[in-house]
Amino acid sequence: MQLFTIFGNPVAHSKSPLMHNLTFQGLNYDGVYTRYRLEDGNELRNKFFDLDIKGANITVPHKEYAFEACDELDVFAQKVGAVNTIVNKEGKLYGYNTDAPGFLKAISEFENIKRVLFLGAGGTAQSTSVILHDAGYEVSILNRSAGRLERYEKEGFETFTFESFTMDEPFDLVVNMTSAGLEDDSLPCPLEILETVIPSAKACVDVIYGKETPFLKFTKESGKPTKDGSDMLLYQGIIAFEYFCDHAFSFEEIKEHMQKAFIL
Ligand code: NDP
Repeated sequence: MQLFTIFGNPVAHSKSPLMHNLTFQGLNYDGVYTRYRLEDGNELRNKFFDLDIKGANITVPHKEYAFEACDELDVFAQKVGAVNTIVNKEGKLYGYNTDAPGFLKAISEFENIKRVLFLGAGGTAQSTSVILHDAGYEVSILNRSAGRLERYEKEGFETFTFESFTMDEPFDLVVNMTSAGLEDDSLPCPLEILETVIPSAKACVDVIYGKETPFLKFTKESGKPTKDGSDMLLYQGIIAFEYFCDHAFSFEEIKEHMQKAFIL
């Protein structure tokens, strides 16, 4: 039996063990997926080999450590500097980023989207902004603090702080990429900015899943099509599973079983 896990701190809340174990069961794959609270990200590589792990997902705060722990990196993971999926192939660790393609798939279900506004500039915004840009979307980034915006400016993205924000042309999609609303009741930006951007948006997404954040509540009350982060979570999990089983199963076969985790 092959062993899989999620490394993070905290990991108690993670849905990944349920998602992957349901899929192993449904596909009769001889694997089991557990969770591992890792305090020191530097220990990641040793744990992989000590515990004889076949594959893992990596969550906050270890995605940069995961990047460093790999022997080989997928082109996209290399480009964005963050790894959330590792597979052990004959003693070598191969790293991938499935968060960003998961997000891209989740938003591609909305039609006629070109201009996208990200509220937030953290690690998740970093990888997803790159994949959206490569896919032809125009991404602008609004963040509370100016420091995190520097790397986006260098990469050619339009950036704003709360103080410098202006809207010349409407944004089609507005995304909460912050952790605002995850463990508190805060909005990701001042209400006046939401009142400016939401009325002309075609759709809104919150990457937080499993709860109605103040952002999601506001966008729903504005009558906009909305999504929380569940589809992103599901899709990044399916893509990770494809790597875990070396593409022995199709996206749709995996989805059929993994999506059951969202109704349990
Ligand atoms: P980071 O810690 O890297 O970045 C956090 C960002 O949120 C920063 O831009 C920070 O701004 C901003 N922020 C935090 N609190 C507030 C607040 N109260 N008001 C305004 N801005 C705030 O986090 P990640 O990028 O790793 O994660 C972001 C979110 O994405 C999390 O909620 C996480 O749960 C979710 N996520 C969901 C996934 C899914 O599959 N659905 C996958 C991965 C992540 P500043 O720079 O000013 O501090």
